[in-house]
Amino acid sequence: MIKFNVPPYEEKAMDYIKECVENQKICGDGEYTKKCNAWFEERTGTKKCLLTTSCTHATELAALLADIQPGDEVIMPSFTFVSTADAFVLRGAVPVFVDIRPDTMNIDEKLIEDAITEKTKAIVPVHYAGVACEMDTIMDIAKRHNLKVIEDAAQGVLSTYKGKALGTIGDFGAYSFHETKNYSMGEGGALLIRDEENIEDAEIIREKGTNRSKFYRGQIDKYTWVNFGSSYLPSDMNAAYLYAQLEKADEINNVRLANWNRYYERLLPLKEAGKLELPTVPDGCVHNGHMFYVKLRDLEERTAFIKHLGANDIMSVFHYIPLHTAPAGQKFGRFHGKDVYTTKESERLARLPMYYKLTLNEVDHICDVIEEFFK
Ligand SMILES: *Cc1c(COP(=O)(O)O)cnc(C)c1O
Repeated sequence: MIKFNVPPYEEKAMDYIKECVENQKICGDGEYTKKCNAWFEERTGTKKCLLTTSCTHATELAALLADIQPGDEVIMPSFTFVSTADAFVLRGAVPVFVDIRPDTMNIDEKLIEDAITEKTKAIVPVHYAGVACEMDTIMDIAKRHNLKVIEDAAQGVLSTYKGKALGTIGDFGAYSFHETKNYSMGEGGALLIRDEENIEDAEIIREKGTNRSKFYRGQIDKYTWVNFGSSYLPSDMNAAYLYAQLEKADEINNVRLANWNRYYERLLPLKEAGKLELPTVPDGCVHNGHMFYVKLRDLEERTAFIKHLGANDIMSVFHYIPLHTAPAGQKFGRFHGKDVYTTKESERLARLPMYYKLTLNEVDHICDVIEEFFK
């Protein structure tokens, strides 16, 4: 049986967690949290990285920092995970969904400007499968209309766009370290902050509205309640689990890319024969092997495809139910323009097993089974 996902795990994690427990340092913002934050700051060049309890929470934090208010509109794709919209709906904002590009499944940057109204406050590009959205165009639109950009880079850790790390281009970026992502701490995430001026507010909101971070740095002699806030900091034990993977980040990335490339090479003849479609990585985008998906002819063929893999002990899954067609999406948001690709493309997409521990032999076997399906 080949599973769809196996959470990443590095053996060192047990030593690091044990250290936290033995030193009785298990709450937030301990040594491992600091090490993870510093690692991402160094690696991505962002001004500030703050570990959070999830990518969902990092996005909520960004929505608070961007001062999203009831009635504001936020432009995003409908083909995404619910968290992208939830964070803004919680602020009373209206998600305005626009169509995706069929090649990358990312928001179609050419459709964004038409969706802007006087209520629009932010654009939320989602870097699907760790392949960047067309950020130059998006940043240009945001600048001209004075909008914030919050990157949902949940899947984009270690990916780049024209040399820049995903999550560092917009005002804010959100990473996920859920167990299905490239690097994991079980549940967890991070907020990346581009501009110095937003750092202090972020630290305060993340720490229940207090200036405790400043206190810990010895910048003030007592801490107090200074703003609204919540608790978005993870336990240091979770950070310890993650840090063990960051020490091997490139190795993990390379293994994923090798698996991704093997899928691509092996399935290319089927693509050339017009049997299925493969992911596109535009020029200037370096991806992280987060996901390998194929696109079948239609929903019916996809159902048969997933069933065929299942019958051969290979787990394949699909996603997402477009948000604008879901009950909450209909209640809270609206789709701007025509849904040309969102529904059609999402219905024919199937994800193949992809994780650090997946072997090239297993990828070959999966590709054999896929070839059989088309015979
Ligand atoms: C995984 C994911 C999230 C949510 O991440 P959590 O850490 O589970 O909150 C948000 N957006 C996208 C695109 C994701 O893939």
